[in-house]
Amino acid sequence: MKFLLKGRIELSGEIGSAKKPLDEFLKNADTSILAKGAPEGKGPRILKWTSEGNEIKIEIESGTHVRAHEALIRLKKGIGQELGKKYKMGARSVVIDEYEITIDLKQAPKKKFKVPFVESIDFSGEQCTIIFKNLNEEFILNNYIDRILNLISKKVEDQFYEGKAEYWELYWSSPEREAKWNLDPTEEMVKRGWLKQGPTKGKWFYKPELTAIFRAMEKIAVEEILQPLGFQEVIEPHHVPFDVWIKTGHMTGSPNEIYYVSEPKTRDPEEWEAFRDYVYVTHKIDKEELMKLIEIPNAGICYAQCPVIYWALSNATISDKSLPLKLYDRSANSNRYESGGRHGIERVDEFHRLEPVYIGTAEQLLELRDKFIERYKYVFNEILELEWRMVWVTPWYLQQSGQIEHEEAGEDKIKGTIDFESYMPYRGSRKESEWLEFQNLSIIGDKFIKAFNIKPQKQKSELWSGCSGIGLERWTAAFLAQKSLEVESWPEKFQKVFGTMPEGIELL
Ligand code: ATP
Ligand code: ZN
Ligand code: MG
Repeated sequence: MKFLLKGRIELSGEIGSAKKPLDEFLKNADTSILAKGAPEGKGPRILKWTSEGNEIKIEIESGTHVRAHEALIRLKKGIGQELGKKYKMGARSVVIDEYEITIDLKQAPKKKFKVPFVESIDFSGEQCTIIFKNLNEEFILNNYIDRILNLISKKVEDQFYEGKAEYWELYWSSPEREAKWNLDPTEEMVKRGWLKQGPTKGKWFYKPELTAIFRAMEKIAVEEILQPLGFQEVIEPHHVPFDVWIKTGHMTGSPNEIYYVSEPKTRDPEEWEAFRDYVYVTHKIDKEELMKLIEIPNAGICYAQCPVIYWALSNATISDKSLPLKLYDRSANSNRYESGGRHGIERVDEFHRLEPVYIGTAEQLLELRDKFIERYKYVFNEILELEWRMVWVTPWYLQQSGQIEHEEAGEDKIKGTIDFESYMPYRGSRKESEWLEFQNLSIIGDKFIKAFNIKPQKQKSELWSGCSGIGLERWTAAFLAQKSLEVESWPEKFQKVFGTMPEGIELL
């Protein structure tokens, strides 16, 4: 790696009589202030400098130890210390006029790409050279340079990762069970009038019959899993501001799946008069006029419930008494733009989940995960009588945040995600068909705890967190795909929770 910087240091006054000590300082800087923290002889070098008026022009070269832009910031501080007392002068600011950085990649990229803020980016084998122009101090201090270098490495790695199968390792599987039928439940339910395609993309209107099934599933999740494990219910808002999703990583991981929310620019009825009149006359929307009346989105609709739960705890200190903290939300519907992937009730743009979130020490969460698995096993084996399995996969939070670390999730079995998959008889044979992921269970480590600055009572203890996404559409799709739509064919314990089928709506 090589860093070649041309920049300027602006002083608080004319150099004048301070020129000599300043030159002396810069001449010795390589071996003093700039050498700190670098192995002998490997630190940055000042190639040349000139000073005039209140400005020093400087060129710095470095390798990876104390990179040239860090060196520039060090010099700014050093000059203040050196000239401050005697000459009442300090360095006011620094700028980089031109910065050429050459980095070594792990592999030569398969194809070229762009990154933001750089003037040019060029590849030659495993080397990448970028040139920045006109960077201010804020840009340097906010770490943008490092993030851009990381982004380049990540983009190259992603090129090699794309298309590779997701990490998958079988953890546990139930015995085979005889399916009651092999039809696609959604299609059959449409025929029976249990649901209707919604008025917008990828959404359904669930009629009384299917709603009753969802509510039975929800009752089981609450009464057989969440309550016995000691979870407390919360109700969170459905709109998530961007800053929350920047912290969780969703804004880099899945901005292409988010439904965005715009506020009206004004509530003043007069401002909306022309818009309203147009609708009155044409029964149509004047979209151009509408765009003038609404803000650019500043939030999105819930994608998963955990980010706002973390937000609610941000900067808080959790008392030991509350650990492990166990909360769940079932009020916010998740919206995702699934586009071409939509299918039936199992992949929709608006779905209904219960999401438990847990925070505690690593030991507490490991213990909780075992208890979760015990309860889940009871529900899926004894109440729903499913044919299902658990698998270790690439953690969803790494996928969604676009931070797949290209390491296998199962490597350390403490952090990671277990997917719960169900056999879907209508899709084909057990071996060849794709099973449906109907929920997951994750331990994430301290990623979100750090991102939201959630603190433990004892400073020494380290908090971790995790979540589990219980999807009612997916539970139901898995259950009906195996058990059919006939109440009499359903397992007894489920029938008991379900009660009787609602009358439904008779349409002529
Ligand atoms: P997939 O790989 O199927 O897209 P995902 O990894 O995006 O799933 P997660 O973000 O892990 O899903 O969400 C956890 C749970 O949310 C899933 O197990 C499922 O129950 C539910 N879920 C996710 N996306 C959908 C969807 N489009 N329709 C219905 N349920 C969904
Ligand atoms: Zn979550
Ligand atoms: Mg998805």
